[in-house]
Amino acid sequence: MEIVTRQKQWFKNGYTQSYDFRKQQLLKMKRMLQTFEAPLLKALQYDLNKSEFEAYTTEIAFLNAEIQEQLSHLKKHMTPEKVKAPLSHTGTQNYIRKEPYGSVLIIAPWNYPLQLAIAPAIGAIAAGNTAVLKPSEMTPTVSWVIRRMIEEFFPEHVLKVVEGGKEITQQLLSEPFDYIFFTGSERVGKIVMQKASEQLIPVTLELGGKSPAIVHKDANVPVAARRIAWGKLINAGQTCIAPDHVYVHEDIKEAFIREYKAAVQLLYGKEPLKNDDFVKIVSKDHFDRIKSYLPDGNIALGGETDEKNNKIAPAVLTEVTEKDPVMQEEIFGPILPVLGYRELKEAVETISEKPDPLALYYFGEDEKSQEFVTTSLSFGGGCINDTLYHIINPHLPFGGVGTSGMGSYHGKFSFETFTHKKSITKQNTKFDPSFRYKRDKNSLKIIKR
Ligand code: NAD
Repeated sequence: MEIVTRQKQWFKNGYTQSYDFRKQQLLKMKRMLQTFEAPLLKALQYDLNKSEFEAYTTEIAFLNAEIQEQLSHLKKHMTPEKVKAPLSHTGTQNYIRKEPYGSVLIIAPWNYPLQLAIAPAIGAIAAGNTAVLKPSEMTPTVSWVIRRMIEEFFPEHVLKVVEGGKEITQQLLSEPFDYIFFTGSERVGKIVMQKASEQLIPVTLELGGKSPAIVHKDANVPVAARRIAWGKLINAGQTCIAPDHVYVHEDIKEAFIREYKAAVQLLYGKEPLKNDDFVKIVSKDHFDRIKSYLPDGNIALGGETDEKNNKIAPAVLTEVTEKDPVMQEEIFGPILPVLGYRELKEAVETISEKPDPLALYYFGEDEKSQEFVTTSLSFGGGCINDTLYHIINPHLPFGGVGTSGMGSYHGKFSFETFTHKKSITKQNTKFDPSFRYKRDKNSLKIIKR
């Protein structure tokens, strides 16, 4: 594709390296989001039925905070880092230069179609790269507005949007990009990594999976239920770090389900399907897939469907087994399987036998148990006594582990992701001891010291 060649040529001129250039691009990004706020909100409403409140808080406000975070620390992040050196390096200066990779490919999913396309672009630009952005074809209105606003604010040799589905993405993946940042499913993540390996292009993979919650017997049950319902039902469960299912101690299981029902009512009223703020399922295929999980257990709450508007009411499933499809596949919808356990160790063991999740949420007051859970299990990140909140803190890296992804971003971690750390040792030429040139016993003695 000609655009990759153009971006690379332009990058070589070195314009993106200066502080002023990067700052201007970030400020432009901010103005762009302000200018296009209304069409973006409309597009998010059209493609996903996101309410203004939800669209603003989870997409636009998130991006504004990320831009501010990059602007506030840009100079510090760019400054070469002086490092110490061993005795053998006496008389040298040693430092790490923070260099952009070049032209970055960003591939985005549909669930937060604005945030997950633009947040990596903010990091890539702050770090001094150029970027090609491929939004999801599943949310075509948002994709179109993203292209329009970027065309209006950025020259294509700095930032370019290429719209399309898997064929276009595959084409892009054959191009000689310098870095690939992919957010999406594990299945496509494997395709991306395979294609990247042909040219040895470094990748960040932000993937998904089944993120569990545990509610132990010493948890504040009403708070746990409210926070799990909130994290599960934002975007109708179509959130990569939504609590997918929950293990609840048998002693409080009934109470938890009762409180979860109350929490759903608090959030979306008695008839969530009639609540305009409740997000729809992105497509008929996903609607059918999620609906097909309902017979996997006893429906303790909800589960009503509105086929015309692709909506599924928040549901609780009990009596499910680990072998049921609802416990084998990422749900990515408003259905919450509730499973019981007697010993915390038992729940931890069950989770540890599965692929490492992107997130894990533990509810309970005892600090030893909190420590036990967070250190015994491998997962991308998570919360104790909350859900999703870790993603909103720009001082925490966000990313998966194992099959839930590799690499991380947000705040300074975005800058680092899109930066090559170039190590430099600057020697002086006045002092040139002979021991390194002589391969004799005396030299060895000095080296061994
Ligand atoms: P997806 O993998 O189907 O699509 C992601 C992107 O890949 C899209 O732009 C799409 O056009 C492209 N694509 C799809 N099929 C392709 C193929 N065969 N070859 C090349 N490119 C292809 O994912 P999705 O359905 O858009 O998003 C949902 C998934 O993303 C879930 O698994 C979710 O957990 C995950 N996710 C992860 C994060 C995170 O930050 N870790 C965030 C959001 C979503």
